Amino acid sequence: MDGGSLPYFDLKNVWPLNYYNFEGYRIKMFLSSGEIGFALLIFAILSIFVITPILTYKYGKRWYCSWVCGCGGLAETAGDSFRQLSDKSTFAWKVERWVVHSVVVFVTLMTTAVIYSYLGTDTSKYWLTKSTFLIGVGVLLTLVFGWAMLFKREQLQKDARYGAIGYFVIIIALIGFHFFSGEGEVFLFKSGTLRKSYSFLIGSVFSGVIGTGFYPIFGNRVWCRFGCPMAAILGFQQRLFSRFRITTNGGQCISCGNCSTYCEMGIDVRAYAQKGENIVRSSCVGCGICSAVCPRGVLKLENGPLEGRIDSNQILLGNDVDLMSLVNKK
Ligand code: SF4
Ligand code: SF4
Repeated sequence: MDGGSLPYFDLKNVWPLNYYNFEGYRIKMFLSSGEIGFALLIFAILSIFVITPILTYKYGKRWYCSWVCGCGGLAETAGDSFRQLSDKSTFAWKVERWVVHSVVVFVTLMTTAVIYSYLGTDTSKYWLTKSTFLIGVGVLLTLVFGWAMLFKREQLQKDARYGAIGYFVIIIALIGFHFFSGEGEVFLFKSGTLRKSYSFLIGSVFSGVIGTGFYPIFGNRVWCRFGCPMAAILGFQQRLFSRFRITTNGGQCISCGNCSTYCEMGIDVRAYAQKGENIVRSSCVGCGICSAVCPRGVLKLENGPLEGRIDSNQILLGNDVDLMSLVNKK
């Protein structure tokens, strides 16, 4: 690209969905395009660390997954007639958590390896050297992990275990990068090979072939649910510090199951509605269909204060006063 011309940049595409945004050629393109290129680079970084958390805090992950993302748009249009096919079993939920969080670990390591491979070691030439970068990534992840474990452990519940495993895998890999990397390679792999593997396995096969071609088998959000690292990170934010939740009025639920049937993310909405429990699930993309198909108007998509949003008092069908106090004691 000639210096001074506008660099290509898709403003809605945020890392990690846009996994190639910090590759050497992209950084060169930004930096060789003058002030506008530099501003776009800053925008790309702010999108990850500032803009995304603020919007998710205010609206939940639906601001991205339902309003902005192209994959979500395709799922809601071309894939809409397959939404009822999403698997609602607990087993599918387990697989979902393992797979989607593994993709987050993969994309984090791949991006770190790619950036690491083009940085230098000479402090007089580079303001950001290989080791400073690795330490920076380690410190950032430790801060996020430490904050979640110290202040949000209750909200994380079982997911704390997944978070801890992911964190330790990444930290050990970062240490490995430092000791077992040569010129342009990490752990004897060319960083470009890691990047190409991610691009082929996740960017093409998972998001393209399985994510779209398998709508008629796994439902229309199979990529968003099982594979998208962006959805996983937004889900983490949604679970821990978003004002968004779906409230229920359990007393009115007739257990027809429409909400669960039409939830494209495989959430058993009815199970929550029957207990009058708020639905605060990482995977919910806030499409609002569960609320639209409920014949009793039980479900409401709402923004509200963070307190009491998870595990709010449960109400049993029939509103039996004694049983209610027993359940709410747990
Ligand atoms: S809004 Fe309702 S239907 Fe849509 S993903 Fe969330 S729980 Fe499922
Ligand atoms: S659609 Fe409404 S009434 Fe039917 S199970 Fe869901 S919350 Fe209950």
